[in-house]
Amino acid sequence: MTDPVSYKFVTKEELTYLIFTPWENDERMTHGFSTRSGGVSEGDLATLNLGFNRGDKEENVIENYKRISKALEVPFESLVLSKQVHETQITKVGHKECGNGILIPNKWESMDGFYTNEQGVTLVTHYADCVPLFFYAPKYGIIGMAHSGWRGTVHEIGKKMIETWRNREGIPVSEIQIAIGPSIGPCHFEVHEDVASCFQSQFPNADFITYNQSKDKYTIDLWACNKQSLCSVGVPEENIIVSGICTCCMDQIFFSHRKTGGKRGTLGAFMCLN
Ligand SMILES: [Zn+2]
Repeated sequence: MTDPVSYKFVTKEELTYLIFTPWENDERMTHGFSTRSGGVSEGDLATLNLGFNRGDKEENVIENYKRISKALEVPFESLVLSKQVHETQITKVGHKECGNGILIPNKWESMDGFYTNEQGVTLVTHYADCVPLFFYAPKYGIIGMAHSGWRGTVHEIGKKMIETWRNREGIPVSEIQIAIGPSIGPCHFEVHEDVASCFQSQFPNADFITYNQSKDKYTIDLWACNKQSLCSVGVPEENIIVSGICTCCMDQIFFSHRKTGGKRGTLGAFMCLN
């Protein structure tokens, strides 16, 4: 599943989102990753901003959620928004959380990862360069999402999701599929020694860190790091789908925090069991 063409864009009216082709024809599960197109927000947030914390009008953000929900064919009322603070808290959610963060106040202080085995609950996580991880075990009817920025990647939130499913839900690790969505690529994720050293201490044999002597900076491949971490708990490499899309390279299509110095909207990742 590491074929470079592991994704495709779907356009409905003005709105375009991305899906992973290995899951394209699976009617048991709906998923998607938004782009900038199809919304009502303006300026730096144009047009499909899904962040309530970006200085947008609340009515715009809600309209954008209604449009992406319609395009994905999931009920707007089924959305459950995460509370992302670059930590590794993971919880199980269900119908009682529907509307969290959009129709009812966000109930969590910290929730960078969550999962469900209930149909009709749409998990929503947010991005603008950070790594979206989608989890799916088709035979067991369970989906999950994790926000894996560089801190989440260092602290192995993806691996933590796998261990949670294995230990608490009894899911065999070999049955779990993971998709790594659009996010900042090794072409653009350049960091100073402070960040690089966090990775080096967590992953002593890391081959995804490159030192550039002339700049005295490091580049880190967050996709490879996440993949290595997932494989370390027994996920077969062929179960991991990597989109290979860099949001910073493709900033006309996706919001990129780094490319814009923070003047950007927010993208959304969506998953729902049907
Ligand atoms: Zn790039």
